[in-house]
Amino acid sequence: RKGVVVITGASSGLGLAAAKALAETEKWHVVMACRDFLKAEKAAQSAGMAKENYSIMHLDLASLDSVRQFVHGFRQSGRPLDVLVCNAAIYRPTARKPTYTADGSEMSVGVNHLGHFLLANMLLEDLKKSDYPSRRLIILGSITGNTNTLAGNVPPKAGLGDLRGLAGGLDGRNSSAMIDGGEFDGAKAYKDSKICNMLTMQELHRRFHEDTGITFTSLYPGCIATTGLFREHIPLFRLLFPPFQKFITKGFVSEDESGKRLAQVVADASLSKSGVYWSWNNNSASFENQLSEEASDAVKAQKLWEISEKLVGLA
Ligand code: NDP
Repeated sequence: RKGVVVITGASSGLGLAAAKALAETEKWHVVMACRDFLKAEKAAQSAGMAKENYSIMHLDLASLDSVRQFVHGFRQSGRPLDVLVCNAAIYRPTARKPTYTADGSEMSVGVNHLGHFLLANMLLEDLKKSDYPSRRLIILGSITGNTNTLAGNVPPKAGLGDLRGLAGGLDGRNSSAMIDGGEFDGAKAYKDSKICNMLTMQELHRRFHEDTGITFTSLYPGCIATTGLFREHIPLFRLLFPPFQKFITKGFVSEDESGKRLAQVVADASLSKSGVYWSWNNNSASFENQLSEEASDAVKAQKLWEISEKLVGLA
């Protein structure tokens, strides 16, 4: 049978490119988990995806209720789950004030981390039941949350501190809207959320890999400077960022190429090792990358797990 992969945020950018790459193999059915049904349908059609290779299901990660409904709806569809890709994200670098999810947490961490945290935990049960030879749970990381790299050191730097803001629910009233308890900074909130994504992947690996055989991985697909992720940035940045990445940092990668990279992490036998943060060199060869000290801090990962469990109602 075909493998079944759920990809969150498959209506644009990397998620769409990976959905397309997987659908084209005819070996995968892609469930596009998206907040805007019409946008996703148009995107799938203009990418030339054949009807039988994908379906679209509603998921708004800014609402934990929506996450629960998605899981319920997915189970009702009767499909098995072989691979889950937590890809969706928002980035609000120019925001001066925080905005909040339906559950009252700051939006970037709420969508990128907490929504995915609940989704991953719930769907773990479905992955366990799958009889597919290589079951995987993939969470998108980023170099910008990784302070052992040059890009990761561009201010404001990521840093979760002692997680006091998160422990308070990131509600911006009784607690700070930032994980470390500091002043709101939209760019930092995104980077912090990516650290959470990478810590969560490793904690999943430690807790569940041995017993379940499921592969847990994260990746940095390269700088896809053209995606919608930068939609809220100032126009001059959006104009100059792609050529800057192409010619100066040489970290630029096209949406097509990044989609192929993510598709490899989903499907390739050679990328089945668990607990790995994949990256690619300039010749597009994959390698196991190192994470920064904070992004590989096992004590912090456990603390993050416990606080997140409470916030999403799992504990
Ligand atoms: P895009 O903005 O193109 O795609 C993000 C996707 O997330 C969109 O489909 C968007 O939906 C969806 N999304 C946003 N908010 C929600 C929500 N509340 N519920 C459900 N879906 C939501 O960005 P990219 O493709 O660049 O980013 C994809 C991933 O890659 C992210 O995890 C990002 O951190 C990571 N990444 C990106 C890099 C880059 O250079 N671009 C570099 C490293 C990592 P909609 O279409 O409705 O807006």
